[in-house]
Amino acid sequence: MTSPATPLANSRIHCGLLIALLIAVTIPVGWLVLAAANGRQPNGKPLPEKAKKLADLAERLRPLDRPMGPVQPGDWLESYTELGQTFRQYVTDRPGPVDPSRTTLYIVPLGEGTKEQTEIVSRTAEFLEVFFGKPVKTLERVVLDAVPPEAQRLRSDGKTRQLLSTWLLNDVLLKRRPKDAIAVLGMATDDLWPGKGWNFVFGQASLSERVGVWSLARNGDPSESPEDYRLCLRRTLKTAMHETGHMLGIPHCIAADCGMNGTNNREENDRRPIEFCRECQPKIWWYCQANPVERCRKLAKLAGQFGLDEEAKHFEAEAEALAKP
Ligand SMILES: [Zn+2]
Ligand SMILES: [Zn+2]
Repeated sequence: MTSPATPLANSRIHCGLLIALLIAVTIPVGWLVLAAANGRQPNGKPLPEKAKKLADLAERLRPLDRPMGPVQPGDWLESYTELGQTFRQYVTDRPGPVDPSRTTLYIVPLGEGTKEQTEIVSRTAEFLEVFFGKPVKTLERVVLDAVPPEAQRLRSDGKTRQLLSTWLLNDVLLKRRPKDAIAVLGMATDDLWPGKGWNFVFGQASLSERVGVWSLARNGDPSESPEDYRLCLRRTLKTAMHETGHMLGIPHCIAADCGMNGTNNREENDRRPIEFCRECQPKIWWYCQANPVERCRKLAKLAGQFGLDEEAKHFEAEAEALAKP
């Protein structure tokens, strides 16, 4: 995103400026110190037995985690302070699995897409289902040919349409949110901007309303070449997993190189992985009740099918580490 100059007036998240502030408010600093591996939650209570087992299992991922590396000019952490969140902190925050009446993640394609973009949205739905271990349904495409004037504008090139992300959240996605939705994810082909003072935004989500919207517009042209296709797919998957993670209450991560790291620009975003680290991944096992080994095995297979060889190798290594007797 650029020009992060707007007032922070509500619970919506422009990934990730607002999330940084939200977390700063909700997680006391002392928790970080108390979150050492002592079998206790940051509030001093012992971890539930099941969570303790998951925490122990997640330790097997430690050798596979890469350090975040030094902060580079323009990186997220150069501008924003993040407190991070351990698995134990998450268990304190979310003491049980997701509300059983909320069973499904929904994807809504927004706007006309090319053949390749449409395929990327459908692959994202497939990946999302395995990544979070919850069923994903794709709702009917919303054409977006009758956008009110105040919800659209032209970019500085004078010809590319930009849509107001808050309008998509409130007037398009919220109205379509099914009762059993864990979250509703709008995947737009138009570029987005979140309001006055902003040039554009990659995505925006509302934790309280469980709706989010992201754009494929800046992910490259997947019809250019197989390499461009993979790049667009990888970027789209990364944003979808990251933003869905936020909607499940996972803040930005500082424990390792991780799909939940805050990113400030395209280069930094491209540097970060899709997969979550040893602190963030068990949050999925705990809250969504995903099977740790099966999840990684299936992700390895999918990534292989999608031509994402580097990711496939990492998921395979994770499955092997987690499956050891
Ligand atoms: Zn974020
Ligand atoms: Zn992480």
